[in-house]
Amino acid sequence: MRRRKFLQSALMRGVASFLGLSLVIGIVATANLALAGSNHDLYPLWWTNGFLTAIILIAGTRKWTLFLTSGFAGSLAARWLLHYPLLQGICHVSADIVEVALAAYLIGRILDFAPPPIGLGRLLTLIGFGALLPSAASAALVSVAQYLLLHTFSWNYTFSWFFTGALGLGIVVPLVVGLTTGDIAMPFGRRQLSNTLLLLLTTALFSCLIFSQSSLPLFFLDFPALLLTVTYLGFAGGVIGVVLIAILGSAFTSLGHGPLMLIRPGSPIPAMWVFQLFLAACIFSVAVLAMVLAERRRLEQLALESEARYRLIAEHSRDIIIMGLLDGTRKYVSPACVDILGWTPEELLGNTYEQLGHPEDVPMMRSQLAAIARGAVVKEVSYRMRRKDGNYTWLEANLSPYPDPKTGEIIGFVNVSRDITTRKSSEEDLQSAYLALEALATVDGLTGIANRRRLDEVLTIEWRRSIRTRLPLSLILLDVDHFKAYNDLYGHIRGDSCLKQIAEAALDVVRRPADLVARFGGEEFAIVLPATNGQGAFELAEQLRAAVEKRALRHEGNDTGIVTVSAGCATVTPQRGSSVIQIIEAADSALYAAKRSGRNRVEIAAMSSGPEPLSVSD
Ligand code: GH3
Ligand code: MG
Ligand code: MG
Repeated sequence: MRRRKFLQSALMRGVASFLGLSLVIGIVATANLALAGSNHDLYPLWWTNGFLTAIILIAGTRKWTLFLTSGFAGSLAARWLLHYPLLQGICHVSADIVEVALAAYLIGRILDFAPPPIGLGRLLTLIGFGALLPSAASAALVSVAQYLLLHTFSWNYTFSWFFTGALGLGIVVPLVVGLTTGDIAMPFGRRQLSNTLLLLLTTALFSCLIFSQSSLPLFFLDFPALLLTVTYLGFAGGVIGVVLIAILGSAFTSLGHGPLMLIRPGSPIPAMWVFQLFLAACIFSVAVLAMVLAERRRLEQLALESEARYRLIAEHSRDIIIMGLLDGTRKYVSPACVDILGWTPEELLGNTYEQLGHPEDVPMMRSQLAAIARGAVVKEVSYRMRRKDGNYTWLEANLSPYPDPKTGEIIGFVNVSRDITTRKSSEEDLQSAYLALEALATVDGLTGIANRRRLDEVLTIEWRRSIRTRLPLSLILLDVDHFKAYNDLYGHIRGDSCLKQIAEAALDVVRRPADLVARFGGEEFAIVLPATNGQGAFELAEQLRAAVEKRALRHEGNDTGIVTVSAGCATVTPQRGSSVIQIIEAADSALYAAKRSGRNRVEIAAMSSGPEPLSVSD
């Protein structure tokens, strides 16, 4: 029961759609045939086929049979209404329906296969397969049918059929498709409406001017208005313009007015074909211009989007992004500079690093820019820049060159700078902590023996002890002979290892627990010998000298050909109130004496409380 009701209502809907559509097509076809008037040569374009094709394309392929049968019925009814012979009517309408079916199928396939934007290649494909081919097939069909059934044939008729059909498809299909897909908003949007009316009115007025008089062929006057319409209203606007020209042109022409009247009946091309050619030129120009404008708009949109994307990245970066010329002039500064430096981008534009860079960093920055100009990429350089509040901020920059897009020549740099104030201050904290630690250390980093600080401490303690115990205190100062030449000859690394070996040799010789072997500085060593008299100190110094000599470390820069040392000994039994400097100065001058008297020897300082200087040479 319910199923029957459902079928019934579906059938009713189908019949209603069929009748409705037939009525619409019938009206269009009647109007179209009536417009053609009694003079069938004045038949500019067959709107009905274009209209039906457009409906099928918009509605989709599901209801093809309904559309095609309604089209058939409507068109046939129109011909019956206008008293066309039945057989001729059936021939014409069948050819029309074949044309519509073919056009709708081919246009649908082409658009499905490659959706918009439409390039020139596809525009030509659409014209060829969507308009010319179906009309040609229809013209061939109607000619053959008329020939077979009515025994009439004329090439003129075949061509007219072809032109009217192709033009109908070529104008109406883009109109309906254009208006129903997106483009419709363009001419009829609220903001555009006054423009639309003005432009279409202008086109209409020009068309009236052209077609209402029969003395001048002023067809070309329509083009400016038409092109303006496409520029401002897009493809749909342009097609509406062409439709207006077609309607007004054919109306005036069918009333016997217009420049077509200038064409005499015997002309090689019939007047109507000229008009059709004109309309075809109009629609083609509209399509090409619309296509070019749409492509340009698409590219502009792409450029805007990509520009917006890059701007977003630059503007939201927490690092300062600077683009500048090779002389340092800034051309773009990202807004992060406000947070980091307090300056606005505008305040930094047009200046260079010379104005705000720290004076100590400017030469470095200059040389970095020179490197950029040579094509180098500069990584992680630190520099200081003056903030708006006058203080300096540490920045770390990565710089890369950028080329002129046309010539490829390097014309500037991109600098991405990061605030490293926090890192710098922790580095400084670390450095001072290291220095503090080093100051507390008592061991020499290179040789592993006591350092100068430890030497001073021990020497002061022993000096005081010596005052108390009244026992003599001795100090030996040891200096490597011609060590500068050693470094020059063998390099600092081997120089360092030589110093280590001398320290080892000294530790081998000096064995009393209270004695101290220390690095006095550079290539000089000091040995503190508590409770040791001059003789003992001298002997030990001599042993030290001999121990180094025994190691026979090659030294071409020394007279002996091996590394040797000179030593100065001083022995003091200090008095209360005397200074430790005394013994150091004494040992130093003895060392100086040893150097002066030929090196690789030990000299004893001449002291008021000690023995006379004694020279021992090898
Ligand atoms: P002289 O016989 O008069 O002492 O000649 P010299 O070349 O040894 O004298 P000078 O004091 O002019 O040169 C000492 C050189 O010792 C200078 C420096 O190159 C080197 N030197 C100082 N400290 C170090 C060090 O820690 N490592 C190395 N490799 N060389 C050092
Ligand atoms: Mg020296
Ligand atoms: Mg020396």
